[in-house]
Amino acid sequence: MGVSNTTYNSVLMINADLEEVKKFRQRIMAIETGTPTPVARIEKRAAYSEEDDFLNKTPYKPISEIRDLIEKTVCVTIGVVKDFSPGKSWWYKSCNICPLAMREVGDGYKCSRCNAESQNFTPRYSLNLKVADEESYASFIVYETVGSEYLQISAEDLRTKHILRGGNRIEFPEELSKFKNKTFLFKVSVKLENINSFQPVSITVMKLCHDEAIISSFKQKYSIDQDAFFPANSDVITLPADYSDINKVFSG
Ligand SMILES: [Zn+2]
Repeated sequence: MGVSNTTYNSVLMINADLEEVKKFRQRIMAIETGTPTPVARIEKRAAYSEEDDFLNKTPYKPISEIRDLIEKTVCVTIGVVKDFSPGKSWWYKSCNICPLAMREVGDGYKCSRCNAESQNFTPRYSLNLKVADEESYASFIVYETVGSEYLQISAEDLRTKHILRGGNRIEFPEELSKFKNKTFLFKVSVKLENINSFQPVSITVMKLCHDEAIISSFKQKYSIDQDAFFPANSDVITLPADYSDINKVFSG
């Protein structure tokens, strides 16, 4: 290694600390005043536009077909978020370094990918959305990048805000209702998970589009007369009673 200047190094350290403290204070102040915090994870779009990606670059599959897929597939689909899947939390305890969930080990947490051990964790979104189109429905998972971009708040900040308001573990923060009864185009990654489960595939949302012009072009292109089935802001769609695995066990 080269020559090390201790004074310079310690100045750097102090600056780094100050920067972190400053950011933390800004976040707390933003939460207290209700100012939306800038979401650091918003990334620049790919070279082609969102419109091109949803309309031309990625194949469309209706939800009924997605549920029957038997190999890893990336596709786009359209649907209405009816609700959150019952019994699933809206966030998980993530590793501070990578997005993997931490395991509780002793009085701390451990990541099985990077082996990091820590006394704390980073809350990240794992939103289980019940998504329906005119024929079928499925559970889609939204993770941190997509969730924080749409909600304009990170899971970490939303959880802090929720706790400061006196919200408990079971209640979902009201901010999450921004998903409900809305039509979206979803770019999803579908993986075969458990052939014997109620939904054999896991469906992860890679991109979310709520741009009305793009949605309208999409419906036109694939001749989807979705408005006949989902009038705006209505709750006419009732999901079958066996939606959850719990009900399935009882009925079987
Ligand atoms: Zn990790």
